[in-house]
Amino acid sequence: MARILAMLSALCLLGITGSLQAADNVVLITFDGLRWQELFRGLDPELASHEEYSEQSERLLEDFWHDDPAMSASAIFPFLHGTVFQQGTVVGNRDLGSCAAVSNPWYFSYPGYSEILTGVVNESIDSNGKVLNPEKTLHELLNFNPDFRGRSAAFASWDVFPYIFNVERSGVFVNAFEPLVAPVGEAEALLNQLHIDIPPPWPTVRNDAFTHHFAMSYLRREQPRLLFISYGETDDFAHDAKYDEYIFAARRTDGFIREVWETLQSIDQYRDNTVLFITVDHGRGEEPIETWLHHASKRSVDGYMSSLSQYEEGIVGSDATWMAAMGPGIPSQGMRTTADCLTSNRIASTLLQLLGEDYRDYNPAMGVPLEIFVE
Ligand SMILES: [Zn+2]
Repeated sequence: MARILAMLSALCLLGITGSLQAADNVVLITFDGLRWQELFRGLDPELASHEEYSEQSERLLEDFWHDDPAMSASAIFPFLHGTVFQQGTVVGNRDLGSCAAVSNPWYFSYPGYSEILTGVVNESIDSNGKVLNPEKTLHELLNFNPDFRGRSAAFASWDVFPYIFNVERSGVFVNAFEPLVAPVGEAEALLNQLHIDIPPPWPTVRNDAFTHHFAMSYLRREQPRLLFISYGETDDFAHDAKYDEYIFAARRTDGFIREVWETLQSIDQYRDNTVLFITVDHGRGEEPIETWLHHASKRSVDGYMSSLSQYEEGIVGSDATWMAAMGPGIPSQGMRTTADCLTSNRIASTLLQLLGEDYRDYNPAMGVPLEIFVE
């Protein structure tokens, strides 16, 4: 009898821990090139009042300036600071001894996204060119699992994502820079029409509002188990030297993420069983001041990024990233200090672990899971 009871309680425990630890769904979100400096320190006073970089300085300072950097940061990112960092875990505030970085040697977008999505660094990915990714993303790898097959999707503002996901080979559903191929219902038809009628602000990047609302509509109707949303405006406004617009875009993106989370909690498929993980593909410079415009390693300014060759050391600090997550299995510990710098090639395996999967069954070459994000 005692043995039967012990067995029953062991089974019970297994059941409980199993359901508590594994999430059913993951939503992975990226801000392109949003610096940890703004995320944790808020407005940079010099850039925010800079004649050349902030034409709308007055509005920028009125909306977001505060003597306390944490208060300024909370004003730009009310959802991240008020909800994600409270209920979940965050790393990357270097002022507090918390370090996150890319481990690819280049510090620009394609290598950064590939590292996040595939969990490996392939040095042959050394440009932002439209080259089919030789590595497999989390989406493609999970297609080998019948529980996930066809249940993933990606929405992005930048037009290189179909190549990063290698859609020719993987068949992953990717909507990037273009209208939906097969819109469903009036709202998607209208979004498609606006997409055609409103010119994109950049040759290869669309407004994030399209990416966001396409993703939200797809989320509601298809309920994927793995959804990736890549917002791009922050990086493009920074390259355009518009610090004011960079901050306004960051504020909008925080609002988009809030809407994603609130929508998830309103749908049975997602409520209380969905991990939200947020990160960036690279950082930006800090010193000298104009290097906030750029991101490139010392190695890449000798090659693909030769337009920045006057910066002999590359754009120092542009490997710095940050990561934040909340949801089932993620400790509510807020900002965590780190002994070693946590790298982006460990995100994919972490997400697999949070889904109750072992990354070694998918690609043993991935960086190992980030224990800080796993309860
Ligand atoms: Zn980027």
